[in-house]
Formats: sequence, C-alpha cells, structure tokens
Amino acid sequence: MARLTQADLVALNRAFDDRTPQELLLWAQEIFGDRVAAMSSMQESGNVICHMLYSIPVKLPVVFVDTGVLFQETLDTRDQLMRHYGLSIHTLTPAMTMVEQTEKYGILYLTADGQKQCCEMRKSEPLDAVKGQYDALIGSLRRADGGRRGICPILAIDTRLNCLRINPLANFTDEQLEAYIRENSVILNPLHKQGYSTIGCNRCTTPVVPGEPKRAGRWRHLGPWSVYCGINPTDLDPERSPAADFPQDLVDRILCRETDFMI
Ligand code: SF4
Repeated sequence: MARLTQADLVALNRAFDDRTPQELLLWAQEIFGDRVAAMSSMQESGNVICHMLYSIPVKLPVVFVDTGVLFQETLDTRDQLMRHYGLSIHTLTPAMTMVEQTEKYGILYLTADGQKQCCEMRKSEPLDAVKGQYDALIGSLRRADGGRRGICPILAIDTRLNCLRINPLANFTDEQLEAYIRENSVILNPLHKQGYSTIGCNRCTTPVVPGEPKRAGRWRHLGPWSVYCGINPTDLDPERSPAADFPQDLVDRILCRETDFMI
C-alpha cells in the first residue's frame, strides 16, 4: 500500500481547475473503474451530477443516505432519478429509527452537541457501510455555496472512508448551475421552488427568505448558519493535510505518474 496525502494532490487540483465536470467524471471512471460511486442527497447540485452521469453517459452507482427523517419530496426525487435517468441508487439507512434513537437519547437535534451526535448516527455512520467498497466518492460541493465550501478542493482525501472525494462541480458558478438545469430540464426536488435553497432532514431544514444566506435554513434553531453535518470531511476541517492508503499502482494512476511495468 502507498500513502496519498492532500499535499500530493496540489498540482493535480491546480490542473483540474480547467477541466469541465464532465471531463472530471470521465477521469474518475477511467482511474477508478468499478471502485468509484457518486453521492447525492437529492439537492440541485447532486441532481446535476446525476444528470451528467446519465447524459455523458458514465455508468456509476449513486449512494444516498436516507436518515429516516427526510422529506417525502426528497425520496420521490430519488425515485424519479432512478426511473428517468436509469441510475442505480443505493440507499443507506441508520441503525436505529428516529423513534428508537429518541427513546434512547432524547431529542438530540435541539442542541449543538446533540446535532453532532445525531448527524453522526444518521448520516456519517450509514455511509461507513461503503468503506472498502470504493476508492473514490463523487460529491457535488461547489465553492459558490460559500462558507467553508468557498475553498473546497476538487480532489480531497477522506481519511474516515480511506478514499478520495471528487467534486467535479467545485468551480461551477450559480449561473452555470442554473443554465445547466434549465437547458437540460434536470429533475429537481420540488422543495427548491418552495424556498428551500438547501435540503436536509425535515427536523432541521426550513425555507430561506430573500436576502438570507443559502444555508440559513439548515439548523436555523442552532444558528448562526455555520453548521454542517460532517458527511463531507472538508466542511469540518479544510485546513488539515490528511492522507489515505491506496495500492501503489492506483496512486500512480491518480497522480498520472509513468509506471514502469518492466521487471
Ligand atoms: S440534520 Fe438534524 S435530524 Fe438530521 S441527522 Fe442531523 S441533527 Fe439529526
């Protein structure tokens, strides 16, 4: 096994800044084969990734975490994407229902510490199920979303899942996203039209009013609009230089190194 650090990815991240999302998806397929999947929470950026997979086409599975307290519209959006784009979407679920969790721990999401615990059990732990199955996960973080995402790299190491996170839309502006959605009639979660700029669990998501930050509707009760669930490691600690362990030949392929196959 060989170690790949975030520092190793600096040059590649710089070079990838000029690539289109479609080119990055094709790169991911070429490098990782069946060891890469996309992730979507059925919000607009994730749906754009799903549409690109369908239209290029790039045949990759999609991973979706159903916390058990999502809006019905979100689950319906997932079903529509499967039906219309022919995607294979694997739904991951928490160990406990929300009722069981509340009986055991109380209503966690009402406090800052409780929110971390709840998101860990209902979002991050279910995603642990894919650890070892994939060397790369494609996300839909965009720098235009601001906050900690304002500097999110295209390629980021995920130490928890020992994989590479790939964000092909990192450079996609709001205008580019809107144009792509309009020109391709991308299937969207209908809650976006009801004022939900971002969409998570029904317990912790509200619409936003004009002039509010995009994420103002998430964990509004905890304020001040800076809370993240932790399912995307770069949201929590973008300053670290983490590392993951991969087979040497995969590290060489990722970093586009010449490999000498002569013995
Ligand atoms: S968003 Fe709220 S309900 Fe959903 S997992 Fe996090 S704290 Fe729990």
